[in-house]
Amino acid sequence: MRQFAVIGLGRFGSSVAKTLGEKGQQVLAVDIDEELVQDMAEIVTHAVCVDATDEKALKAIGIKDVNVAIVAIGANIEASILVTLILKEAGIPEIVAKAVSKEQGKVLKRVGATRVVFPERDMGARLANSLISSKVIEHIELSSEYSIAEVLPTRKFIDKTLRDIDLRAQYGVTVIAVKRKIQAVAKNGESQEEEKITVSPQADYQIRNGDIMVVLGSNENIEKIKAKH
Ligand code: ATP
Repeated sequence: MRQFAVIGLGRFGSSVAKTLGEKGQQVLAVDIDEELVQDMAEIVTHAVCVDATDEKALKAIGIKDVNVAIVAIGANIEASILVTLILKEAGIPEIVAKAVSKEQGKVLKRVGATRVVFPERDMGARLANSLISSKVIEHIELSSEYSIAEVLPTRKFIDKTLRDIDLRAQYGVTVIAVKRKIQAVAKNGESQEEEKITVSPQADYQIRNGDIMVVLGSNENIEKIKAKH
């Protein structure tokens, strides 16, 4: 199992640590604030009160064994940069760092972050997208360029097969799954609506009205499909 470390247990870090812990992942949670560490103790594997800019202290708590580290210190820019550098030098393969500004993001990349996230900026963009486009239901950003998005099919896709629609050739996006509401019979004999998901649908899969297509592609190309609605 992969071992995670979350450094900084503010609003962002505690949410990451809590979700990983609840999903049964191995999490080492670190903060300089004893109270925040206490709050996390029951939820994660290990919660430790340490100044993460102290290289020796980080090594003493076994940081070297971590596969993925999340640097969730944003406002304290110096600390976030120093901690990222220490993690890089400790040989941690995946370092995700939170940034509050573009400039901080650039520096974090340069000192060794394998991925930089901008939670406030990304959440704002996501909210705006969801407000203006009711056709896109869920949107997962894979990088600044690529996403997985849930899209409702346009009218011209309805009753056509994926081969006919040919989204990959026409729009450069791949349909990785289709969600469909089906009528099923419940234990009490009553009919109820259930969601069926078909992963990697075949080319002869026929799109129906009400289906949700889960597509993978560049943000630019996904935008193009949205614009066609
Ligand atoms: P959020 O928006 O997630 O609440 P933030 O971007 O405002 O956080 P900070 O307040 O700078 O970021 O830091 C988040 C957490 O990181 C805090 O709980 C803070 O105690 C912790 N932290 C800051 N510096 C260090 C450090 N050197 N070692 C360990 N933890 C630290």
